[in-house]
Amino acid sequence: MRVVVLNTGTELLLGDVHDTHLAFIAREILPLGLRIEERRTVPDGETIRHTLAELFSRTAILFVTGGLGPTTDDITRDVVADLLGLELRQDPQLLASLKRRLEARGIKWTSRIARQACVPAGAQVLANENGSASGLYLKVNINPQIPSPHLFLLPGPPRELQPMFRAYVMPILRSIVQVPGSIERRLYKIVGIGESTVEEAIGEKVLAVPGIELGYCARPGEVDVRVIGEPHAVLRADAIIRNKLGLWIFSTSDETLEEVLVELLIKRKETLAVAESCTGGLLSDRITNVSGASAVFLAGYICYSNQAKMSALDVDPKLIEQHGAVSEPVARSMAEQARMCARSTYALATTGIAGPTGGIADKPAGTIYVALASAGSEATVKKFFFPSDRETFKELAAQAAFDLLRRKLMSIPIQ
Ligand code: ATP
Ligand code: MG
Repeated sequence: MRVVVLNTGTELLLGDVHDTHLAFIAREILPLGLRIEERRTVPDGETIRHTLAELFSRTAILFVTGGLGPTTDDITRDVVADLLGLELRQDPQLLASLKRRLEARGIKWTSRIARQACVPAGAQVLANENGSASGLYLKVNINPQIPSPHLFLLPGPPRELQPMFRAYVMPILRSIVQVPGSIERRLYKIVGIGESTVEEAIGEKVLAVPGIELGYCARPGEVDVRVIGEPHAVLRADAIIRNKLGLWIFSTSDETLEEVLVELLIKRKETLAVAESCTGGLLSDRITNVSGASAVFLAGYICYSNQAKMSALDVDPKLIEQHGAVSEPVARSMAEQARMCARSTYALATTGIAGPTGGIADKPAGTIYVALASAGSEATVKKFFFPSDRETFKELAAQAAFDLLRRKLMSIPIQ
């Protein structure tokens, strides 16, 4: 079935508001075997009319978002009624509940607000429990003279659209689709290897599974692998992916690496401190973005200058003199000292050259040492080379540091 989303709203095209509806709707309808084939975004106003007219004849299910409110730029309802030759009738029940809602909030009644109680003849009202603009469902070919799809008119604000979609749109879609396609989607979040290595490890084998769709999404220090297909095919792909990439998969849900770490540390009743030079607080920032971090995160030391490494963490000046601040011994010392100062189970440390300046022959820009100190065992230090812009360098460094800790917590050998 051809499914299309039409987002209306000048604010979307001005870049003032990021669209969230497409991602939401796409994920909700996938289990029904429905996929969005096209998305359009148009400004408020008359463009909506000819876009709808064009889409009506070649779409099976059409979701239109926004433009149901009381302001003059909210014209979706009127345009749809006009295009389909349907009379707009005021729904007395809707009018009464709208009045009650506004009264309870002390909002003045205006004639424009009353327009929100107008319903094209034959349309089904989708209650809005979080706002004043109800949604509308117009069944396929609602006016037999004019071809039209199953048409859903939905409010713009996500906090209104999302609950409405789950409560009222999904049951209608289930009855339209009848035999659910039972399509499954699985996600594997991978750290420590790049996109092409991932592809080399699993690509051919997974694609050899009939009916499977495979996709990759690479971001700094992370590759997301996505498979879509019927449950038995997804199961076969799952076995291949876990067998080949098990040690690098840190999550099969939407979690971030830091969320996984905080969860593991909480379970183990262990704690963490960090000593950061080149990452400038990014490790602390990411860890403290996780709810529950206070149970496991004890301290973050940002020691950017050599002096700070010596005074705040008591790193031996001789180490810096002999090996330089960006070196294995200094990274090790930073981690060990941070763990001592914070009295934590683990401490991570980063020291590197983000660039573009500051590199030297044997330590070019992009060089970084990441260290992990652990209670009861030797500290581990790893050297990486991440030549990139400063922000990407920091992201890659943070991922590398977090992966070091993940491997320790999961007893995966550190390569
Ligand atoms: P209202 O009753 O608030 O006027 P509406 O159904 O008329 O609702 P719009 O006026 O188009 O919807 O949008 C209202 C608000 O909803 C926008 O200011 C914007 O913040 C949000 N919004 C609209 N479209 C989207 C979208 N595609 N993704 C995320 N947010 C959106
Ligand atoms: Mg509006």
